[in-house]
Amino acid sequence: MEGILKQPQNLAKLLQSLVDEASKLPVEGDVANYIPALAAVNPDQQGLAVATIDGQVVSAGDATVPFSIQSVSKIFGLVMAMNRVGDQLWKRVHMEPSGQPFNSIVQLEWEHGIPRNPFINAGAIVVSDILATHYSACKTALVSFVRQLAGCETIYPDHEVYLSEKLHGNRNAALAYLMKSFNNIEAEVQDVLDYYFHQCSLSMTCEQLAVSLSFLANRGVHPHSGQSICTRRDAHRINAILSTSGMYDQSGEFAFTVGLPAKSGVGGSIIAVVPNYGVIVAWSPRLNSFGNSCRAMHMITHLAERLGLSVY
Ligand code: GLN
Repeated sequence: MEGILKQPQNLAKLLQSLVDEASKLPVEGDVANYIPALAAVNPDQQGLAVATIDGQVVSAGDATVPFSIQSVSKIFGLVMAMNRVGDQLWKRVHMEPSGQPFNSIVQLEWEHGIPRNPFINAGAIVVSDILATHYSACKTALVSFVRQLAGCETIYPDHEVYLSEKLHGNRNAALAYLMKSFNNIEAEVQDVLDYYFHQCSLSMTCEQLAVSLSFLANRGVHPHSGQSICTRRDAHRINAILSTSGMYDQSGEFAFTVGLPAKSGVGGSIIAVVPNYGVIVAWSPRLNSFGNSCRAMHMITHLAERLGLSVY
């Protein structure tokens, strides 16, 4: 591992240069306009943060501006569900890449309502069903879990984003009803979707997100509190599925060019886990055709390339 990673001042300079570079790129892609509240975000923002397993947080640009974490929240939901039901979960959702867009329906009927993995929408909706049936107040449980991970009591769901997605959530409703018809959703579909939209609407900064996920780089142990968030085996497994499926149908290309377990969200963020080092979070709202942020992709790709971070 490059020495620069151990020197906060040098790392800060590198992150700043990547943010500056990203801000000068030609405008490419568009904000997620299928959720109207996300289309209202200023697209000309970019932040980059690194949280290391020895407790440092280094960042540049708009790394302290809250944004909608969207699908990155699928990691939090998955950890809670794995901790609750253990390996039972894998009977209802598999661990294979889908090779399809994140909200695709076609595969789900062929495969009898069992989603390919927990990071596509269908898989996260099954995970949401598990949480809805195993927690008396799953929304509150999620928010306190994330606040504890981030070490910050001021993390909230964005009510406007939540309502906006709820009003325009027909595709997710179609996925949920299809899975209900295959008996892979136990609770009422509307309750499951309500939780799912709440989870997606969490608003966090690059810095908070990097700190909150740093247990994934540290074998399941949160580096700030020393607390075990999930087992070492489950941390390895989550990273494995992130590597094959976290970037949707661009996961192969991401593994090829960056080589890190990662997850994107249509709010414009990408998180990448560097095992035994820390977590990188990049954010910029404009998305490519896969629903992955163009500039976040640029920043993470160049950071990984310059520092030789690929796990392969
Ligand atoms: N809330 C979004 C949806 O369900 C999440 C998608 C994403 O971030 N890729 O469509």
